[in-house]
Amino acid sequence: MNETYPVKEEESLDPPDWDEMRDTAYRVVDDAIAHLRDLRDRPLWQDMPPAVRAYFKSPLPMAPSPLNDVYADLQANLIPYPMGNIHPRFWMWYMGSGSFTGALGEFLAAIDGSNLGGGNFAGALMDGQVIGWLKEMMGFPETAGGTLVSGGSMANILGLTVARNTMAGIDVRAEGIAALKQPMSFYGSDQIHSCHQKAVELLGLGNKALRRIPTDADLRMDLGALSAQIRRDREEGRLPACVIATAGTVNTGAIDDLHGIRQICDDEGLWLHVDGCIGALLAIAPDNRHRVDGIEGANSIALDPHKLLHVPFEAGCALIRDAGQHRDAFAVHPEYLEEKPRGIAAAEYLQDYGLQTSRGFRALKVWLMLREHGVAKFGRLIDQNISQAAYLTGLIEEDAKLELAAPSTINIVCFRYVASGLSTAALAKLNTEIMIRLQESGTAAVSDTTVQGRHCLRAALCNHRTRRSDIRMFIREVKSLGREILETD
Ligand SMILES: *Cc1c(COP(=O)(O)O)cnc(C)c1O
Repeated sequence: MNETYPVKEEESLDPPDWDEMRDTAYRVVDDAIAHLRDLRDRPLWQDMPPAVRAYFKSPLPMAPSPLNDVYADLQANLIPYPMGNIHPRFWMWYMGSGSFTGALGEFLAAIDGSNLGGGNFAGALMDGQVIGWLKEMMGFPETAGGTLVSGGSMANILGLTVARNTMAGIDVRAEGIAALKQPMSFYGSDQIHSCHQKAVELLGLGNKALRRIPTDADLRMDLGALSAQIRRDREEGRLPACVIATAGTVNTGAIDDLHGIRQICDDEGLWLHVDGCIGALLAIAPDNRHRVDGIEGANSIALDPHKLLHVPFEAGCALIRDAGQHRDAFAVHPEYLEEKPRGIAAAEYLQDYGLQTSRGFRALKVWLMLREHGVAKFGRLIDQNISQAAYLTGLIEEDAKLELAAPSTINIVCFRYVASGLSTAALAKLNTEIMIRLQESGTAAVSDTTVQGRHCLRAALCNHRTRRSDIRMFIREVKSLGREILETD
């Protein structure tokens, strides 16, 4: 027997010397605290030298390396070259700026190690509690269903899946979309986020099923055009199924008329899904919650704690008003996943609310941050960003060199640097150059977009570290770069 199974020395991944590991871990924590404390003094971003690019092409490590050496490599090659989104002057893509407590939450979740696919343990209760808190923030009933997912894109896909299955008129899970008697139509504005295209494609409905409804001067869905499209679709034998209202568009932050759309959905018998990845959390902000009034009337909501709650990536959330419809879309119970009367499997399976089987313990970081700061603080921070965006808007409006490109509603500001006598193309080139030089200098980061046919720069102030002084400095830099580029061109 010993010949067939020779006894080898048994190994594990635990450190051979826990005291040594403690020293390393303490150093990592010390460095991490210094990194965040001194964030403002470092450039927002810097490009990587060839040596760093080459470092990440090193071959598969066969032999071990002391952890201290590996960590030193990270200090040289990784830590100095982040995306920059946690810096106080990062307003490029709409994303959160992280938090140290959130990072501790990630650490503690990994130490706990539980798989949040579900089961009878405290982490699963915490997951349920966080979902309950998010429902309460949205004004959703306690009985609603919900799940934490990787981000807003996944949350939207889950919401639209439940909408499709509920509205199809056939058992889509059993029969598949090939059995649909009529092609389904979903509706969103022409400002809708790209993840919805992926969603309808993935759901087998095809991109054409997503009807893009024109927007008004404020970039909100034109409800007359929505009703007309629904009518046309019925006449053509299609099945109007779901309106996707956007609460906070990615381009300009415009918020669709949630009450008006709810009314149309009621009249027409349609599902209302709200993409609230940007704006849903305004519901906790005292000065701005009125802007998303009506969100509580949705059939499903996608929201994004890794944006306005600044939870470290990843954390998105799908909420479905009717928990039964939510379960019906995803629950599957093979024998190895049956609930048992007692023990570790004596609980609801959280995987019944989404596509993942194994799930990370995302709830812990959200829970920790909400407990530490309280919801009111997050509400104030959201109001703070919106008021900073209004301040930036004011500085732009009073400056002859700058021009607003879209109305600012919340914390997104679209504008451009202007100079007389330049063609449209030359203006776009000039503004793009300003944007890139700001990034390369590590001063600030904004993006560019096109609003109502006009190219512009776009600042999305989803950042708890931003101060008004950062905004003044940004305006000074934009103007001086604009001048400099025009003079040297
Ligand atoms: C960010 C965003 C998404 C996608 O969310 P992720 O978390 O990046 O997956 C969807 N819709 C809107 C309006 C967004 O702003």
